[in-house]
Amino acid sequence: MTRMTPLLERNERFAAAYTPAPLGPPTAQLVIVTCLDHRVDPAITLGLKLGEAPVIRNAGGRVTQAVIDDIAFLGLLAEQLFSRQGDTGTLFEVAVVHHTQCGTGFLADPNFRHQFAQVTGLPEPALEASAVTDPHATVTADVERLLAAPSLPSKVSVSGHVYDIATGHVTTVADARYPLPARRA
Ligand SMILES: [Zn+2]
Repeated sequence: MTRMTPLLERNERFAAAYTPAPLGPPTAQLVIVTCLDHRVDPAITLGLKLGEAPVIRNAGGRVTQAVIDDIAFLGLLAEQLFSRQGDTGTLFEVAVVHHTQCGTGFLADPNFRHQFAQVTGLPEPALEASAVTDPHATVTADVERLLAAPSLPSKVSVSGHVYDIATGHVTTVADARYPLPARRA
């Protein structure tokens, strides 16, 4: 017995009407970075369909080194597999989406942070910095971090958005921008 049983029944209904998406670049030309919170699933909040956009999720939707590595991987795949010869166009846009009422906000509490640091061995200052208490501020900082990453392909743009749990609305905080060539110097 598994708690997956009712979901596997849903999957049977899904598979009955399923058409596989062909291997190809994401049709929305987007990669979404967002929180793992079960209230902010972009397939539902943004109406994403299969084949439209890869989604990278972690606590807070933060731009960590692991996220930067995943985006470099997706960029290389897109460049090698899906770019036409002599194509000077863009690859995709990365949309970073943070949200209100984020559970990572508990990391701003010194007692909670201390307990989590003891369990994981992670340094407390890093945990404090990973908390999303002001999603407008953290999403702005993470857009800048990704744009400054040397491994970000120059044909990838980055935008920032905030999802409001109370209203269901997504607001754009930072319009899509390409990295400056100077970061490679
Ligand atoms: Zn969250």
